[in-house]
Amino acid sequence: MTWQEFKISYSRINTYLYCPQKYKLIYFDNWYIPLNADITFGHTIHGALEKYHGKKGVTLEELFESYDESWKNEGFNSPQQSFEYYLRGKKMLENYFASFQKSPAEILFTEKSFDTNIGKYRFIGIIDRIDKYPDGAYEVMDYKTHLKIWDQERVDKDLQLSFYAYACKNVFGFNPDKISVYFLSDNKKLYTERTPAQIEDAINLALDASEKITAENFEPNTSKCGFCDFKDRCKYSTAGNK
Ligand code: SF4
Repeated sequence: MTWQEFKISYSRINTYLYCPQKYKLIYFDNWYIPLNADITFGHTIHGALEKYHGKKGVTLEELFESYDESWKNEGFNSPQQSFEYYLRGKKMLENYFASFQKSPAEILFTEKSFDTNIGKYRFIGIIDRIDKYPDGAYEVMDYKTHLKIWDQERVDKDLQLSFYAYACKNVFGFNPDKISVYFLSDNKKLYTERTPAQIEDAINLALDASEKITAENFEPNTSKCGFCDFKDRCKYSTAGNK
């Protein structure tokens, strides 16, 4: 692959850092991560919030309508599991709605895509939400829908947030005053910040991975096999279930 053909995205770089071989299986050999309940649920909640805010919804009933319109009954083990997730989503959105009523910020964008550059490479992505506060401050937000909340250290080191901060400056022309991860299951936000040095580190990490990807360096990282989606199929797997 030439560097002109390659596009940096958070998920590509993150997959490569997890295991270069996993990157090859997904992006060169077109292997798919099997759909599961958590993936479907995450897409549904992101879709519901995008729809609701996109049409400037006001009431909780409108939010529930957006939820029902976004719901996909795929990847669940049973009708029972699907129903449990559905109810969990409703509770999540109810709590989200109550908090949103109290927020003084204006939503500028939801699911905002960007297309810029890192070095010589194209860099693409989607930011879950960007808010503007009455005092002019900008907040960049990432939604998470899984049950387990991260600790502060993980939020402080998260690569995706560093990429978001870079994109805000390069595409939208502002440095985010607040950077947050919104854990919707707990209705809790954790805030972090990114210094110019941290953003530069993230950029260098992305450039280094991009050089290796375009050079087709796909050395397996077998230390992660036990947690890998392909542990049962990959020929390099050391997970013992092939
Ligand atoms: S099973 Fe192991 S070597 Fe294969 S893609 Fe997954 S992490 Fe990499």
